[in-house]
Amino acid sequence: MSSQKLCIFCGQPGGNREHIVGKWLLNDLNLYATRTRIGFGNLLKTGKMDEIDEPRSLGSFITDAVCAICNNGWMSQLESAVKPLLSPLLVDPWPANSRRLLSDLFISCHIITRWLLKTACTFGAKMSVQVPDNIRTELYQGRLHPEIMADVSCNEECGLYVGMSRTWACFAGGKLDSMSVPDHSFRFVWQLRHLAMRVSYFPNCEKMMTKPRYPVRLYPRFGILPDYRSDGVMKPAYRYSTLEELEHDTVYAGRT
Ligand SMILES: [Zn+2]
Repeated sequence: MSSQKLCIFCGQPGGNREHIVGKWLLNDLNLYATRTRIGFGNLLKTGKMDEIDEPRSLGSFITDAVCAICNNGWMSQLESAVKPLLSPLLVDPWPANSRRLLSDLFISCHIITRWLLKTACTFGAKMSVQVPDNIRTELYQGRLHPEIMADVSCNEECGLYVGMSRTWACFAGGKLDSMSVPDHSFRFVWQLRHLAMRVSYFPNCEKMMTKPRYPVRLYPRFGILPDYRSDGVMKPAYRYSTLEELEHDTVYAGRT
C-alpha cells in the first residue's frame, strides 16, 4: 500500500512499515513478548513523565514515517554498528567489568549518539513529540547538532522503560521548576535492563551536576568520572538506584 507520507529524514515518500526498535534488540531482549513502560508528555515531580496506562510491547511499535532507502541504508548501518557495542551492557546482572566496557565506548560515542537520536526521531514522530527538522536533517547528513546531549548509566533496577517529553527540570528563581520550548526541546529516556540511555535537546540551556557523580557522557564530549565514596563505600559515578535518582541528578539552567 502506498502512502503520501514523506520520510522524516530525506523527505522522499515514506510509508514503509518498520519497527521503531531494531530487530536485534527485539530478539535479544525478547521485546516482542515483554511489555515496556512508556511515558510521554509532561515531566512529573519524580523526574519521569506521564505514563501511558498500559505497558506495551516494543515489538508492536511500528512507524510509517521513514522510507525504505533510509531504513535499509544508514539507519540499518547504525543498528549493526551499535549492536556489538551495547550488547555486553544489556545483560542482567550488570557486568562486573562495566567501567572497561563503558570506557571503550569512547571511540564510538558519536555512533551511539546518532543511533539514540535516530530512535528519538522515529519514536517522537509516533508520539507527536517531533524532533526539530534541522536536527533530523543534520542527522541524515551524518552530523550531530552541537546542543544535543547524550549519556548512559547503570540503573540498579532491571527494567524496561521508554519515555519522551518536551519538558526538563531546571532551577528558576532559586527553586526547582520545569521548562519547555514548544516544538523544539525534547528529552528521550530509554532503559533496557540495567542500561539507561538519554538523548536531549534543551536549547540555550546548561547542564549542571548537583552531586559528585554523573552518567557516562557520550556527547558533546565523552566523559566518565572516577568512582566516588558514599557512606564509606566506593561506588561508580554512573551507577544509580532508580531512574528517578538519575533524572534528579542533573539539572539545567537557562543561559543568561
Ligand atoms: Zn528517507
